[in-house]
Amino acid sequence: MTPKVLKNYIDGEWVESKSGELLDVRNPATAEVIARVPLSTTDEVTSAIQAAKTAFPGWRETTPFTRARYMFELKNVMEDRFEELAAVIVKEHGKIIDEARGEVRRSIENVEVAAGIPSLMTGYNLEDVSQGIDEDCVYQPAGVFCCVTPFNFPLMVPIWFLPYAISCGNTYIVKPSEICPLSQILFFELLEEIDLPPGVVNMVNGDKRVVNALLESPDVEGLSFVGSTPVGKYLYAKAAEHGKRAQCQAGAKNCLVVMQDAVLEQSVPAIMSSVFGTAGQRCLAGALVVAVGDVYEPLEGMLVEAASNLKVGDGMDETVQMGPVVTQKSLDRIRGYIEKGIEEGARLLLDGRELQMEGNSDGYFIGPTIFTDVTPEMAIARDEIFGPVMGIVRVDDFDQAVEVIHSSPYGNAASIFTTSGKWAREFKYRVQAGNLGINIGIAAPVASFPFSGMKDSFFGDLHGQGRDAIEFFTDRKVVITRWF
Ligand code: NAD
Repeated sequence: MTPKVLKNYIDGEWVESKSGELLDVRNPATAEVIARVPLSTTDEVTSAIQAAKTAFPGWRETTPFTRARYMFELKNVMEDRFEELAAVIVKEHGKIIDEARGEVRRSIENVEVAAGIPSLMTGYNLEDVSQGIDEDCVYQPAGVFCCVTPFNFPLMVPIWFLPYAISCGNTYIVKPSEICPLSQILFFELLEEIDLPPGVVNMVNGDKRVVNALLESPDVEGLSFVGSTPVGKYLYAKAAEHGKRAQCQAGAKNCLVVMQDAVLEQSVPAIMSSVFGTAGQRCLAGALVVAVGDVYEPLEGMLVEAASNLKVGDGMDETVQMGPVVTQKSLDRIRGYIEKGIEEGARLLLDGRELQMEGNSDGYFIGPTIFTDVTPEMAIARDEIFGPVMGIVRVDDFDQAVEVIHSSPYGNAASIFTTSGKWAREFKYRVQAGNLGINIGIAAPVASFPFSGMKDSFFGDLHGQGRDAIEFFTDRKVVITRWF
């Protein structure tokens, strides 16, 4: 069967792109082409912006209660199609079905929080700021917003933004990942089912040409970006150049510190899931295990044993614990880093390149890999590998562990495994990373909290999700009143 060519969603209609440029979308477990995604033209971006701009005044006047009701509807249709959404994620991305279900659940939670908009968007006031004069601060929607999103949470990341943006009364344009665009197609089919007015939500598929056209338009108010650090940094500067607000959530290299007093039986499964979940392709993935003092000896053996036992395969198989990585290019990059780690003098305890798959698989599979004797200056310790590769760094004490964390330019997440309240408190107080876990391997904030990030992991001030989202998607207007 010829794979279908994906369409854009503009002004309430599915429209074919006029661009002749198409990219193959592949199932990472089989390498089979499952769809073709257009690299849309700047004219198509202009149409989407125009549709969103035209829809804005009417949508803004729609009451927050009515806008919230659309969120309730959206939640319902997502619940009805829960398994289908999860299956599409597995097909385009490769993660295991349970992780995909988690992604759908987290997406729905954002819709649920955004449904609280009548209370989230209220302003504040103060009487008698001077005698007989009152002051009010009102929260108003600002216009057309857009997001540019990564492949690794293809359904959820746009949903970190879109529900809040439109609940606040803005109109919206999504530019999905061109590597994994299918779950956004299904999500927009669901948005179509809830009958939003045309132009309130739009989707334009493509690559940097689409992104540049969005950022260069005077009719776009702001950008939410999630992706790698070089692109995030570049787009943050470009947004500023064009007078737009931007929040750019970027790359990561996260440390998991294991203290001597950690309960290893509980910590090791959490570390496994942090490092090897989603085949390491998470911005919250643990990448470096920092073993403090003599915890190293028992920890090393337990990590290698647990990782060796992970079942790797097609994510649709419910018994599989780790799927493939997303593309051949990713696989080549990860293999390259394994070679680099050996050259740099790290000791390979478990080599994922030796993975034997049952049957002949053309998929992009690599097994869990563990290096030890990793030092912070090695490329495998510094760079975001974005694959199932763990590096173990040995340190003598807590202070050295914090130094290892701070030697990275990134500051997305960090975790500590300990039974000591003192170390947990020190960790929380001192560590410069936006999302911290204490005996938690993946410190993923729920929808009502900001998805944080610091240093080279975030460019901006207001993060996705939570109260930050409401601040980002509104203007504050101050009205000072005196009546004679
Ligand atoms: P990526 O930076 O390659 O792509 C992200 C998006 O940017 C895509 O939609 C892509 O089309 C667009 N893009 C790429 N190059 C561009 C350019 N030159 N100009 C304009 N747009 C461009 O990222 P990816 O490989 O899809 O995703 C993985 C990255 O995302 C990792 O670094 C990961 O850590 C990061 N990530 C961060 C978070 C977070 O919240 N901090 C969450 C998820 C993923």
